[in-house]
Amino acid sequence: MNKFLELALAGVQQLVPYVPGKPVEELQRELGLSEVIKLASNENPLGTGAKVTAAIQATLPELTRYPDGSGFSLKTALSQKWGIAPEQITLGNGSSEILELVMRTFVAPEHDVVFSQHAFALYPILTQAVGAQARVVPAREFGHDLAAMLAAVTEKTRVVFIANPNNPTGTLLGPQDVENFIAALPVHVLCVLDEAYYEFVDPAVRTESLHWPQRYPNLIITRTFSKAYGLAGMRIGYGISSVDVADLLNRVRQPFNSNMLALAAAEAALGDAAYLEETLAVNNAGMLQLTKAFQALGLAWIPSSGNFVSVDLKQNALPIYEALLSKGVIVRPVANYEMPSHLRVSIGTERENQLFIAALREVLGNV
Ligand SMILES: *Cc1c(COP(=O)(O)O)cnc(C)c1O
Repeated sequence: MNKFLELALAGVQQLVPYVPGKPVEELQRELGLSEVIKLASNENPLGTGAKVTAAIQATLPELTRYPDGSGFSLKTALSQKWGIAPEQITLGNGSSEILELVMRTFVAPEHDVVFSQHAFALYPILTQAVGAQARVVPAREFGHDLAAMLAAVTEKTRVVFIANPNNPTGTLLGPQDVENFIAALPVHVLCVLDEAYYEFVDPAVRTESLHWPQRYPNLIITRTFSKAYGLAGMRIGYGISSVDVADLLNRVRQPFNSNMLALAAAEAALGDAAYLEETLAVNNAGMLQLTKAFQALGLAWIPSSGNFVSVDLKQNALPIYEALLSKGVIVRPVANYEMPSHLRVSIGTERENQLFIAALREVLGNV
């Protein structure tokens, strides 16, 4: 029993911590395996790009200094790339921090927060941490039910989270549906459009939302360098909003929340078109490789627009997850997302995918 439990805020007392994917080194240690593959945290399988490595090397001698707290150089690069004003940008220690800043800036215990069933695990955690009430709206075929989410908004609602594509389902909403939803929201409700997987979406069906905050000043779009840009370990992401909202988020954030290496790495990654192109090619090929294998095994999956796919094992997925672990393959059980028969698998390299498929085939043959 934690001796300080009674002293913690009411929401924090009830809080169940986020469970990250198991680290490779930990499993290697536990099982003494020579090779472990991790397809559990939607990380980029290509490794760090050469331009990023060079930018980090060049920054190392400067580490005795504080970073540029305004993130001038990265914000300039982002504003040029996306055609938005630098004043609309909020930089974060991962886009997770932007989500947290929105909550700390706008949400008090008397408020409520709307999000979908099967949505990203951080939304309920952040809601509880500020002591607000979560209104979880049942999903429709694993995707967001926008009409029901709109109906769930009350006078007390301050934030609505939409992940597009959503994690862990990979489901995608179309641009018109998203815009109709935002247009219908009352202005006292901030809409967080979480686009962590934006780059992976087929441009033909992708929502291009970055200019919408001019029309909808209560909209905050979040993007990250963790997934397609391969910088999960660096912790850097950003929000794009109206200048008024960005001004408030920037008042709450710590002055040096984005570290010097992350700022340099992100700017280099943004300029490395070849890396992004290869990432998308590997992802598209890997998605096909995995879903073909699922089909051959007679397994259904949720069609995904991200760099991961959730497969339905039609049984409790936990023993399968454990059996895969014992073979040195780390994937993600999603029972905590109310998906007890699914496993979420991140798309890896061709070889990693193949090792996973072989392990899954063996494990399913054995149960
Ligand atoms: C991975 C992820 C994020 C953020 O990750 P950061 O590393 O903090 O940028 C945000 N939302 C969703 C839905 C994600 O899957």
